[in-house]
Amino acid sequence: MTQKIGFIGMGIMGQPMAANILKSGYELMVYNRTKEKTDTIADAGALLASTPAELCNWADAVILMLTGPEAIDAVMYAEQGILSAQTTDKVVINMSTVSPAYSRNLKKCLEPSGLNFIDAPVSGSKKPAMDGSLVILTGGPKELIIRYEQLFLTMGQKVIYCGEAGQGSAMKMTINLLLAVMVEGLCEALNLAQLLKLDTDLVLDSILAGHLGCGLFNFKSDMLKQNEFPVQFPLKHMAKDLRFVLQTADEAGAAVPAGHAAFQLYRQGIGLGNGDLDFAAVKKTLEALSDH
Ligand code: NAP
Repeated sequence: MTQKIGFIGMGIMGQPMAANILKSGYELMVYNRTKEKTDTIADAGALLASTPAELCNWADAVILMLTGPEAIDAVMYAEQGILSAQTTDKVVINMSTVSPAYSRNLKKCLEPSGLNFIDAPVSGSKKPAMDGSLVILTGGPKELIIRYEQLFLTMGQKVIYCGEAGQGSAMKMTINLLLAVMVEGLCEALNLAQLLKLDTDLVLDSILAGHLGCGLFNFKSDMLKQNEFPVQFPLKHMAKDLRFVLQTADEAGAAVPAGHAAFQLYRQGIGLGNGDLDFAAVKKTLEALSDH
């Protein structure tokens, strides 16, 4: 409880995750590229850093919840980045979604500076982040992960140990492949049903009444009934994640035909201007490709 936690990235996920850390009694310092997004957490009592280096100098553990590799590289390697700070006996915990290969490489790049590394991407979106009910998929030295388990449990309901650094990201690739394909599949079925003149509410109620009525489909059903897609997990981030999934699958020699098809549909969603909507807006891509 005496640990000082630094948190970089006050986006959709980072803000509620950081708020839960603060509520649990940890000392917290935050940094975000766009300063205005730190106002709420500062009002709640967090300290503000004006650079990643200032945050790293102060903190024992530095959490990253950023878009992806480009953003992580920016906070790591910039002139006032993490690697320009005092780094001995500290740990970097990357909770952003990246590929396993990027995670393993990041670990290697941190080693010469004496920084320990945990990869800890999350399963769950904005609401579980707010409720503190994320599932945290960890990779790295087990004793280090156990040392930070209480910290993880301020943000999540479960911490899963997946293996060495990079294996948390491998688990995240696996889960997001399934997530992307399941939501695209639901949207594809609903789009067909619409063209067959079935009522969308009735179709969803029928799906949810049987074995297909899983938590995910329940969670997305209101959006699909209302045909409005307020963001939980942005479609543009799902397209980004699928790019990592496809690269990772290719390196592993795994066939992912449905993943390739889903990637094209989410990508087209960005082209249609739906990148900032929830990823269930892939339904709009399917409508655009159909004879409505
Ligand atoms: P977001 O709302 O888009 O926030 C992205 C964060 O990254 C912001 O703080 C942004 O700073 C920062 N950033 C982007 N580019 C940067 C750069 N070049 N330099 C410094 N900072 C930069 O994203 P999010 O939804 O919170 O997602 C964060 C991570 O969690 C992603 O890897 C995502 O795939 C993963 N994830 C998201 C969800 C979800 O449901 N949203 C669920 C699970 C996992 P600014 O504010 O300055 O733009």
